[in-house]
Amino acid sequence: MPPGSAPAILRRFTRAFHPNPPRDGAKFTSRTSVRGAPLTRQHLNITRTPSNRLLTKRAALALLCVPSIFTMAWRSSGATNDELIDNLFANEIASDAVQSAMRSCDRKNYVVVGDAYQDSPQTIGYGATISAPHMHAHCLSMLEDQLVPGARVLDVGSGTGYLTALFASFVTAEENKDGVVVGIEHIPQLTAMSVENFAKDGKEHMLANGKVELVTGDGRLGYPPRAPYDAIHVGAAAPSVPPALIEQLARGGRLVIPVGPEGGHQELRVIDKDENGAVTERTAMGVIYVPLTDAEHQLKNR
Ligand code: SAH
Repeated sequence: MPPGSAPAILRRFTRAFHPNPPRDGAKFTSRTSVRGAPLTRQHLNITRTPSNRLLTKRAALALLCVPSIFTMAWRSSGATNDELIDNLFANEIASDAVQSAMRSCDRKNYVVVGDAYQDSPQTIGYGATISAPHMHAHCLSMLEDQLVPGARVLDVGSGTGYLTALFASFVTAEENKDGVVVGIEHIPQLTAMSVENFAKDGKEHMLANGKVELVTGDGRLGYPPRAPYDAIHVGAAAPSVPPALIEQLARGGRLVIPVGPEGGHQELRVIDKDENGAVTERTAMGVIYVPLTDAEHQLKNR
């Protein structure tokens, strides 16, 4: 790329302002900054070499989008949990119900390092991240119709437990209904951390009364003891949709799952099972997530 060319200038300009720039030779993708899905250094370093013509076309497009490159993923950040949610809501990312659930869980109780009220993913160790708040808001919005009091929810790759707690605030809202949320995580230290996080957030009663279960296991197999589930969320990208998750989806239920290769093109899929058991699928958006994999592989790559 010639140093004075539009792509080169754009690249230097973008790198100067981007809080997490890819290494030399890697390119920025709109998915990296716009979607704000869980990112790892490894994922940011996806290298592709498009032709010069394509690059120039992309640079022109990117120039038009420069303000959003700098602001999309971070514009909803706040100084407090309430301010973060105010900003998400002002940006019309979240509905009223999603908003009040997100107010009821203080993200600082789930974040290990970094600014809990920044609208971006943060590392939680063990090769995992907590997703950006706007990504959690999107996933909650996609599952909102299923998240009625009394519903059963499975959160695969529950990590910090933050999203699991958000699900619980929807489905356990009415005392007399038996809503239940299972968070399944394959790194035992993360499961233990999520239990502590629930306590920090004043939610240990949800674990004590069995409305929330935080378990260690391979989420690719689902969690048969509490199936079927009205809503299943997967917080890590699967190479293909695990059949057990479709099997454990209730009629009228919805599964939201990122699908695609590790570090490659991934899509957030929305899979519905209707009242007759027929399954349909659509793609909601392009995303970048850490892989849904085995623990050994995950820990090797961190
Ligand atoms: N949803 C969580 C964590 C997202 S990161 C949050 O936002 O806080 C993805 C998580 O999936 C990681 O914690 C990772 O350890 C977990 N994971 C990856 N493969 C898994 C598998 N096969 N079974 C269960 N959990 C898995």
